[in-house]
Amino acid sequence: MLISIVVPCYDEEEIIARFHEHVTRELGHIAADFELVYVDDGSRDRTLELLQERAAADPRVRYVSFSRNFGKEAAMLAGLRHAAGDAVVLMDADLQHPPRLVGRMLELHAEGWDQVVARRTRDGDRVTRTLLARGYYRVINRLVDVELVDGVGDFRLLSRRAVDAVLELTEYNRFSKGIFAWVGFPTTTFEYRNEGRDSGRSKWTLRKLFDYGLDGLLSFNDKPLRLALHLGLVLVGTASLYAAWIVGDALVNGVDTPGYVTLLVAVTALAGVQMVMLGVIGEYVGRIYYEVKRRPHFLVKAANTGAPRTRPSPGEFSRR
Ligand code: UDP
Ligand code: MG
Repeated sequence: MLISIVVPCYDEEEIIARFHEHVTRELGHIAADFELVYVDDGSRDRTLELLQERAAADPRVRYVSFSRNFGKEAAMLAGLRHAAGDAVVLMDADLQHPPRLVGRMLELHAEGWDQVVARRTRDGDRVTRTLLARGYYRVINRLVDVELVDGVGDFRLLSRRAVDAVLELTEYNRFSKGIFAWVGFPTTTFEYRNEGRDSGRSKWTLRKLFDYGLDGLLSFNDKPLRLALHLGLVLVGTASLYAAWIVGDALVNGVDTPGYVTLLVAVTALAGVQMVMLGVIGEYVGRIYYEVKRRPHFLVKAANTGAPRTRPSPGEFSRR
């Protein structure tokens, strides 16, 4: 049985050597046949050269390098496409996903689980980030069609059929947390203690996290559109009642003094609401725009892997 470890790397020159050593040592103990699929996501540092050196020295190393930074989602997709394993483990390059847990994953996989998910605790995270995350998951799970779990990231093992299923989903906007949940198959979760990044730094800024959060919200449901509709209806209803009341009042008591405050508030509030609605619709239209263009998710600059196991989706031109 061949195990593939897929590792997206973006500017990871400081840690890639240590990561590689760690993983090969751990997997050596587990004594399975394995390959490492590194995806260089358009790094601006020496990551690619280091990967090429590794590949020259070790036949189990495969690498794919992008023409520019396409993001972690694209990198994971490329890794999954090029992985030949009967089981595939997705792992970050920064050693925040402890390689020793792969053994546990394989045990659980042997018991018949298609997806084995390592769920991290939030030890060591900043309190604000933890609270924000909690709140976010509470809100999002009420809205989206799939279930998302706090602390569950991309560190997981996928069986061959789960990988093939993930590769069937060729959408351009990839929110992998949702995609993995959507695919289903018997899934089990175990917990591990969160560890800080070994070196280098996280590429997540608050702004990026916020956008990612929005992606999650919008990728897996159309409820915001529904919500917009409901809110619009409620507002129209309230406005009609209010108008009726004002007209009635004027008929009975004569014309009142000018209610400019009411007017101002109503106008600004309505304008705000309309902006939000337009924004919501715009988000969906934007997504449709990207989907219909059917561009490839990434472009490959260099690789030592053969053609991807899975053919590109119709409309996607060859990336080689
Ligand atoms: N990564 C990537 N492309 C990007 C950003 C990140 O391939 O545009 C990789 C990065 O090299 C690392 C993993 O994704 O292996 C997780 O990134 P990071 O540690 O910055 O995220 P965090 O652990 O803070 O969520
Ligand atoms: Mg990290």
